[in-house]
Amino acid sequence: MSFHSGFVCILGRPNAGKSTLLNALVGERLAIISPKPQTTRNRILGIVNVPKRKGSEAAQIVLIDTPGVHKPDSSLGRKMMMEVREALEGCDLLLMIVDVKQRPDREDGFLLDMVRKSGTPTILLLNKVDLLGQDKQKLLPLIDEFQQRAQFREIVPISARTKDGLDHLVEILVRALPTGPRYFPDDQITDQPTRFMAAEIIREQVLLAAREEVPHATTVVVESFEESEKLIRIAATIYCERGGQKAILLGKGGQMLKKIGTAARLQIEKMLGAKVFLELFVKVKAGWRDSREFVEGLDWRRQLEDLTGKVSR
Ligand code: GDP
Ligand code: MG
Repeated sequence: MSFHSGFVCILGRPNAGKSTLLNALVGERLAIISPKPQTTRNRILGIVNVPKRKGSEAAQIVLIDTPGVHKPDSSLGRKMMMEVREALEGCDLLLMIVDVKQRPDREDGFLLDMVRKSGTPTILLLNKVDLLGQDKQKLLPLIDEFQQRAQFREIVPISARTKDGLDHLVEILVRALPTGPRYFPDDQITDQPTRFMAAEIIREQVLLAAREEVPHATTVVVESFEESEKLIRIAATIYCERGGQKAILLGKGGQMLKKIGTAARLQIEKMLGAKVFLELFVKVKAGWRDSREFVEGLDWRRQLEDLTGKVSR
Protein backbone atom coordinates (compact mmCIF):
# COMPACT_ATOMS: atom_id res chain seq x y z
CA MET A 1 0.00 0.00 0.00
CA SER A 2 1.37 3.39 -0.88
CA PHE A 3 0.89 6.68 0.92
CA HIS A 4 0.59 9.95 -0.96
CA SER A 5 1.67 13.29 0.42
CA GLY A 6 2.87 16.72 -0.55
CA PHE A 7 2.71 20.48 -0.22
CA VAL A 8 -0.08 22.26 -2.06
CA CYS A 9 0.01 26.03 -2.35
CA ILE A 10 -3.26 27.98 -2.69
CA LEU A 11 -2.64 31.01 -4.86
CA GLY A 12 -4.95 33.75 -6.04
CA ARG A 13 -5.94 37.38 -6.07
CA PRO A 14 -7.26 39.09 -2.93
CA ASN A 15 -10.78 37.90 -2.04
CA ALA A 16 -10.84 34.91 -4.41
CA GLY A 17 -11.67 32.65 -1.45
CA LYS A 18 -8.28 31.10 -0.60
CA SER A 19 -8.72 31.16 3.16
CA THR A 20 -12.32 29.95 2.93
CA LEU A 21 -11.05 26.99 0.89
CA LEU A 22 -8.29 26.21 3.41
CA ASN A 23 -10.76 26.21 6.30
CA ALA A 24 -13.29 24.12 4.36
CA LEU A 25 -10.74 21.45 3.45
CA VAL A 26 -9.20 21.25 6.93
CA GLY A 27 -12.61 21.47 8.59
CA GLU A 28 -11.44 24.03 11.16
CA ARG A 29 -11.15 27.81 11.18
CA LEU A 30 -7.40 28.19 10.74
CA ALA A 31 -7.42 31.35 8.67
CA ILE A 32 -9.47 34.46 9.28
CA ILE A 33 -11.88 35.55 6.54
CA SER A 34 -13.48 38.86 5.68
CA PRO A 35 -15.05 40.55 2.67
CA LYS A 36 -12.10 43.00 2.73
CA PRO A 37 -9.11 42.39 0.48
CA GLN A 38 -5.74 41.55 2.06
CA THR A 39 -7.20 39.90 5.13
CA THR A 40 -4.49 37.21 5.10
CA ARG A 41 -1.01 38.63 5.73
CA ASN A 42 1.18 35.57 6.21
CA ARG A 43 1.25 32.04 4.87
CA ILE A 44 -0.85 29.56 6.82
CA LEU A 45 -0.34 25.83 6.87
CA GLY A 46 -3.33 23.51 7.11
CA ILE A 47 -3.03 19.74 7.20
CA VAL A 48 -5.64 17.38 5.72
CA ASN A 49 -5.39 13.66 6.46
CA VAL A 50 -7.31 11.59 3.93
CA PRO A 51 -8.14 7.99 4.94
CA LYS A 52 -7.82 5.19 2.41
CA ARG A 53 -10.96 4.81 0.33
CA LYS A 54 -12.11 2.49 -2.38
CA GLY A 55 -10.06 3.32 -5.44
CA SER A 56 -7.77 5.81 -3.72
CA GLU A 57 -4.82 5.66 -1.37
CA ALA A 58 -4.47 7.27 2.05
CA ALA A 59 -2.82 10.67 1.90
CA GLN A 60 -1.66 13.73 3.77
CA ILE A 61 -2.27 17.02 1.97
CA VAL A 62 -0.31 19.94 3.41
CA LEU A 63 -2.09 23.09 2.23
CA ILE A 64 -0.53 26.51 2.30
CA ASP A 65 -2.87 29.50 2.26
CA THR A 66 -1.20 32.71 1.09
CA PRO A 67 -1.87 36.46 1.01
CA GLY A 68 -3.55 37.64 -2.19
CA VAL A 69 -1.25 38.34 -5.12
CA HIS A 70 -1.12 42.12 -5.63
CA LYS A 71 1.34 44.87 -6.47
CA PRO A 72 2.75 45.94 -3.09
CA ASP A 73 3.05 49.59 -2.08
CA SER A 74 4.35 49.29 1.50
CA SER A 75 6.75 47.22 3.61
CA LEU A 76 3.76 45.20 4.75
CA GLY A 77 2.71 44.56 1.14
CA ARG A 78 6.24 43.52 0.17
CA LYS A 79 6.42 41.19 3.16
CA MET A 80 3.08 39.67 2.10
CA MET A 81 4.39 38.99 -1.38
CA MET A 82 7.55 37.45 0.13
CA GLU A 83 5.25 35.09 2.01
CA VAL A 84 3.64 34.10 -1.30
CA ARG A 85 7.01 33.42 -2.93
CA GLU A 86 8.24 31.41 0.07
CA ALA A 87 5.06 29.34 -0.02
CA LEU A 88 5.59 28.63 -3.73
CA GLU A 89 9.07 27.26 -3.14
CA GLY A 90 9.26 23.51 -2.99
CA CYS A 91 5.54 23.00 -3.59
CA ASP A 92 4.37 19.81 -5.28
CA LEU A 93 1.24 21.35 -6.68
CA LEU A 94 -0.42 24.74 -7.07
CA LEU A 95 -4.09 25.57 -6.74
CA MET A 96 -4.82 28.78 -8.58
CA ILE A 97 -8.19 30.02 -7.40
CA VAL A 98 -10.31 32.61 -9.20
CA ASP A 99 -13.66 34.22 -8.43
CA VAL A 100 -16.10 33.31 -11.25
CA LYS A 101 -17.90 36.62 -10.81
CA GLN A 102 -14.75 38.57 -11.72
CA ARG A 103 -13.58 39.09 -15.27
CA PRO A 104 -9.91 38.13 -15.75
CA ASP A 105 -7.77 41.27 -16.07
CA ARG A 106 -4.19 42.53 -15.82
CA GLU A 107 -3.79 41.40 -12.22
CA ASP A 108 -4.60 37.87 -13.35
CA GLY A 109 -1.80 38.24 -15.88
CA PHE A 110 0.60 38.89 -12.99
CA LEU A 111 -0.72 35.79 -11.23
CA LEU A 112 -0.49 33.61 -14.36
CA ASP A 113 3.12 34.77 -14.78
CA MET A 114 3.94 33.53 -11.30
CA VAL A 115 2.26 30.21 -12.06
CA ARG A 116 4.17 29.75 -15.32
CA LYS A 117 7.52 30.76 -13.82
CA SER A 118 7.10 28.35 -10.91
CA GLY A 119 7.07 25.41 -13.33
CA THR A 120 4.83 23.58 -10.84
CA PRO A 121 1.77 21.60 -12.03
CA THR A 122 -1.30 23.74 -11.42
CA ILE A 123 -4.99 23.07 -10.98
CA LEU A 124 -7.33 25.98 -11.76
CA LEU A 125 -10.23 26.33 -9.33
CA LEU A 126 -13.26 28.31 -10.46
CA ASN A 127 -14.64 29.40 -7.09
CA LYS A 128 -17.98 30.82 -5.95
CA VAL A 129 -20.07 28.80 -8.42
CA ASP A 130 -22.90 29.08 -5.87
CA LEU A 131 -23.32 32.65 -7.13
CA LEU A 132 -24.10 31.45 -10.67
CA GLY A 133 -27.29 29.62 -9.73
CA GLN A 134 -28.32 27.02 -12.31
CA ASP A 135 -26.50 28.77 -15.10
CA LYS A 136 -23.27 26.75 -15.18
CA GLN A 137 -22.95 27.51 -18.93
CA LYS A 138 -21.49 30.85 -17.88
CA LEU A 139 -18.30 29.01 -16.89
CA LEU A 140 -17.46 28.02 -20.46
CA PRO A 141 -16.05 31.36 -21.73
CA LEU A 142 -14.04 31.70 -18.51
CA ILE A 143 -12.57 28.21 -18.93
CA ASP A 144 -11.72 29.04 -22.55
CA GLU A 145 -9.98 32.24 -21.61
CA PHE A 146 -7.81 30.69 -18.90
CA GLN A 147 -6.97 27.68 -21.03
CA GLN A 148 -5.54 29.98 -23.67
CA ARG A 149 -3.28 31.69 -21.15
CA ALA A 150 -1.70 28.77 -19.27
CA GLN A 151 -1.50 25.02 -19.12
CA PHE A 152 -3.60 23.63 -16.31
CA ARG A 153 -3.54 20.06 -15.19
CA GLU A 154 -7.26 20.27 -14.47
CA ILE A 155 -9.96 22.90 -14.19
CA VAL A 156 -12.40 22.34 -11.34
CA PRO A 157 -15.50 24.41 -10.49
CA ILE A 158 -16.07 24.66 -6.72
CA SER A 159 -17.78 26.62 -4.02
CA ALA A 160 -15.51 26.98 -1.00
CA ARG A 161 -18.47 28.40 0.89
CA THR A 162 -21.03 25.63 0.25
CA LYS A 163 -18.29 22.97 -0.15
CA ASP A 164 -19.67 22.03 -3.54
CA GLY A 165 -17.04 20.11 -5.54
CA LEU A 166 -14.59 19.78 -2.64
CA ASP A 167 -14.83 15.96 -2.31
CA HIS A 168 -14.00 15.69 -5.98
CA LEU A 169 -11.11 18.14 -5.51
CA VAL A 170 -9.64 16.06 -2.67
CA GLU A 171 -9.74 12.96 -4.89
CA ILE A 172 -7.90 14.84 -7.62
CA LEU A 173 -5.29 16.08 -5.13
CA VAL A 174 -4.63 12.62 -3.72
CA ARG A 175 -4.10 11.29 -7.22
CA ALA A 176 -1.86 14.18 -8.24
CA LEU A 177 0.45 13.99 -5.20
CA PRO A 178 3.53 11.78 -5.26
CA THR A 179 4.06 8.90 -2.85
CA GLY A 180 5.71 10.30 0.24
CA PRO A 181 5.94 10.33 4.02
CA ARG A 182 3.49 11.59 6.62
CA TYR A 183 5.07 14.98 7.24
CA PHE A 184 3.01 15.83 10.32
CA PRO A 185 1.48 13.72 13.11
CA ASP A 186 -2.17 12.70 12.57
CA ASP A 187 -3.59 15.06 15.18
CA GLN A 188 -1.82 18.20 13.99
CA ILE A 189 -3.83 20.55 11.76
CA THR A 190 -1.59 23.62 11.57
CA ASP A 191 1.84 24.95 12.46
CA GLN A 192 0.54 28.26 13.82
CA PRO A 193 1.11 28.88 17.54
CA THR A 194 -2.17 29.44 19.46
CA ARG A 195 -0.85 32.77 20.65
CA PHE A 196 -0.66 33.99 17.05
CA MET A 197 -4.05 32.52 16.21
CA ALA A 198 -5.51 34.51 19.09
CA ALA A 199 -4.01 37.71 17.62
CA GLU A 200 -5.55 36.83 14.25
CA ILE A 201 -8.98 36.24 15.78
CA ILE A 202 -8.84 39.72 17.35
CA ARG A 203 -7.79 41.18 13.99
CA GLU A 204 -10.70 39.42 12.31
CA GLN A 205 -13.13 41.14 14.68
CA VAL A 206 -11.48 44.49 13.93
CA LEU A 207 -11.87 43.79 10.19
CA LEU A 208 -15.54 42.93 10.63
CA ALA A 209 -16.30 45.93 12.85
CA ALA A 210 -14.28 48.74 11.27
CA ARG A 211 -14.68 50.43 7.91
CA GLU A 212 -12.69 52.20 5.25
CA GLU A 213 -8.97 52.58 5.89
CA VAL A 214 -9.02 51.33 9.50
CA PRO A 215 -8.78 47.56 8.76
CA HIS A 216 -5.70 47.94 6.58
CA ALA A 217 -4.01 50.25 9.07
CA THR A 218 -4.47 47.81 11.93
CA THR A 219 -2.39 45.01 13.35
CA VAL A 220 -2.64 43.03 16.59
CA VAL A 221 0.14 41.93 18.93
CA VAL A 222 -0.45 39.55 21.86
CA GLU A 223 1.58 40.96 24.74
CA SER A 224 0.98 38.18 27.24
CA PHE A 225 -0.65 34.76 27.24
CA GLU A 226 -0.84 33.10 30.65
CA GLU A 227 -2.50 29.76 31.19
CA SER A 228 -3.71 28.74 34.61
CA GLU A 229 -5.97 25.87 35.58
CA LYS A 230 -9.21 27.81 35.39
CA LEU A 231 -8.50 30.62 32.98
CA ILE A 232 -6.33 31.84 30.15
CA ARG A 233 -5.35 35.50 30.51
CA ILE A 234 -4.53 37.29 27.30
CA ALA A 235 -3.45 40.89 26.88
CA ALA A 236 -3.21 42.27 23.36
CA THR A 237 -2.57 45.59 21.67
CA ILE A 238 -4.32 46.76 18.52
CA TYR A 239 -1.98 49.08 16.63
CA CYS A 240 -3.31 51.67 14.22
CA GLU A 241 -1.66 54.53 12.37
CA ARG A 242 -3.53 57.68 13.41
CA GLY A 243 -5.37 59.25 16.32
CA GLY A 244 -8.59 59.32 14.31
CA GLN A 245 -8.39 55.56 13.77
CA LYS A 246 -7.80 55.02 17.48
CA ALA A 247 -10.91 57.06 18.23
CA ILE A 248 -12.91 54.86 15.81
CA LEU A 249 -11.56 51.66 17.36
CA LEU A 250 -12.39 52.84 20.88
CA GLY A 251 -15.83 54.14 19.91
CA LYS A 252 -18.14 56.24 22.07
CA GLY A 253 -17.35 55.50 25.71
CA GLY A 254 -15.19 52.54 24.61
CA GLN A 255 -18.21 50.75 23.13
CA MET A 256 -16.52 49.65 19.92
CA LEU A 257 -13.47 48.16 21.65
CA LYS A 258 -15.79 46.37 24.06
CA LYS A 259 -17.74 44.86 21.18
CA ILE A 260 -14.55 43.73 19.43
CA GLY A 261 -13.21 42.30 22.69
CA THR A 262 -16.34 40.32 23.52
CA ALA A 263 -16.66 38.83 20.04
CA ALA A 264 -12.96 37.93 19.94
CA ARG A 265 -13.04 36.41 23.43
CA LEU A 266 -15.93 34.12 22.49
CA GLN A 267 -14.06 32.93 19.38
CA ILE A 268 -10.81 32.37 21.29
CA GLU A 269 -12.68 30.41 23.99
CA LYS A 270 -14.16 28.24 21.26
CA MET A 271 -10.73 27.60 19.75
CA LEU A 272 -9.03 26.83 23.07
CA GLY A 273 -11.96 25.12 24.79
CA ALA A 274 -11.28 27.15 27.93
CA LYS A 275 -12.40 30.32 29.71
CA VAL A 276 -10.52 33.38 28.56
CA PHE A 277 -9.95 36.77 30.14
CA LEU A 278 -9.07 39.17 27.33
CA GLU A 279 -7.66 42.64 27.85
CA LEU A 280 -7.33 44.91 24.79
CA PHE A 281 -5.37 48.13 24.31
CA VAL A 282 -5.28 50.48 21.32
CA LYS A 283 -2.06 52.27 20.42
CA VAL A 284 -1.04 54.59 17.60
CA LYS A 285 2.14 53.75 15.75
CA ALA A 286 2.40 56.13 12.83
CA GLY A 287 3.45 54.53 9.54
CA TRP A 288 4.00 51.03 10.96
CA ARG A 289 3.13 49.47 7.59
CA ASP A 290 6.18 51.17 6.13
CA SER A 291 8.52 50.16 8.93
CA ARG A 292 10.37 47.07 7.79
CA GLU A 293 11.57 46.40 11.31
CA PHE A 294 8.08 46.54 12.83
CA VAL A 295 6.57 44.41 10.05
CA GLU A 296 9.33 41.79 10.43
CA GLY A 297 8.68 41.75 14.18
CA LEU A 298 5.06 40.73 13.56
CA ASP A 299 6.17 37.50 11.87
CA TRP A 300 5.71 34.63 14.33
CA ARG A 301 8.11 32.41 12.41
CA ARG A 302 10.76 35.08 12.91
CA GLN A 303 9.80 35.44 16.58
CA LEU A 304 10.22 31.69 17.09
CA GLU A 305 13.61 31.71 15.38
CA ASP A 306 14.74 34.55 17.64
CA LEU A 307 13.53 32.68 20.72
CA THR A 308 15.13 29.33 19.87
CA GLY A 309 18.28 31.19 18.82
CA LYS A 310 18.45 32.77 22.26
CA VAL A 311 17.79 29.50 24.08
CA SER A 312 20.52 27.59 22.27
CA ARG A 313 23.08 30.35 22.74
P1 GDP B 1 -9.04 35.32 0.28
O1 GDP B 1 -8.68 36.77 0.34
O2 GDP B 1 -8.75 34.75 -1.08
O3 GDP B 1 -8.45 34.50 1.38
O4 GDP B 1 -10.64 35.25 0.41
P2 GDP B 1 -11.53 34.89 1.69
O5 GDP B 1 -11.51 33.43 1.92
O6 GDP B 1 -11.14 35.79 2.83
O7 GDP B 1 -12.96 35.25 1.11
C1 GDP B 1 -13.27 36.54 0.61
C2 GDP B 1 -14.77 36.74 0.60
O8 GDP B 1 -15.35 35.83 -0.36
C3 GDP B 1 -15.43 36.40 1.94
O9 GDP B 1 -16.47 37.32 2.15
C4 GDP B 1 -15.93 34.98 1.73
O10 GDP B 1 -17.03 34.67 2.55
C5 GDP B 1 -16.33 35.00 0.25
N1 GDP B 1 -16.29 33.66 -0.36
C6 GDP B 1 -15.25 32.78 -0.35
N2 GDP B 1 -15.58 31.63 -1.03
C7 GDP B 1 -16.85 31.80 -1.47
C8 GDP B 1 -17.76 30.97 -2.24
O11 GDP B 1 -17.49 29.84 -2.64
N3 GDP B 1 -19.00 31.51 -2.52
C9 GDP B 1 -19.35 32.77 -2.09
N4 GDP B 1 -20.57 33.20 -2.40
N5 GDP B 1 -18.52 33.56 -1.37
C10 GDP B 1 -17.30 33.09 -1.06
MG1 MG C 1 -7.13 34.98 2.85
